[in-house]
Amino acid sequence: MAPQTLDEQRIKDRVQSSVDRASTIFAEKNIRFTDLRRKVFEEIAATTASVGAYEVLDRLAKKGTRLAPISVYRALDALLEAGVVHRLESKNAYFACGRLHHPRTGRRPMFLSCEKCGSVIETDGEDIFKSIDSAARNADFEPRVKFVEVSGTCKDCAAKRQD
Ligand SMILES: [Zn+2]
Ligand SMILES: [Zn+2]
Repeated sequence: MAPQTLDEQRIKDRVQSSVDRASTIFAEKNIRFTDLRRKVFEEIAATTASVGAYEVLDRLAKKGTRLAPISVYRALDALLEAGVVHRLESKNAYFACGRLHHPRTGRRPMFLSCEKCGSVIETDGEDIFKSIDSAARNADFEPRVKFVEVSGTCKDCAAKRQD
């Protein structure tokens, strides 16, 4: 095997620690972290960008795991249910939860999606959710907001722009 670059090693370490945390969460919720769910999760955790279901399918196929789309969608549903990945509705793509503690705090996240590099970061969005709730209720409307997505430019891309 070819020697690994530092970057490859870093990604591998990050994926491994995400997998460890995800497997703890699955155990806590009494959901099985099957081999297939783990493989799908690893592909999503390997990148900071969001990944579509068919991209996951392609990447796994290249590694010799050929799956039907329905299997990938089922695995993704389990990962969503456990809260270890989120779905970016604007792109219909998935990304690994970067703040695996938020289901416990009950504070809902806001997703910041970079239009240039595709990376997605999460930040606390609870104050925004509260504002939406109260504005909607003032209009006699019962809101059902799960996530707030914001598109824009990430720190790295903003720095490149200035060079
Ligand atoms: Zn999250
Ligand atoms: Zn960016």
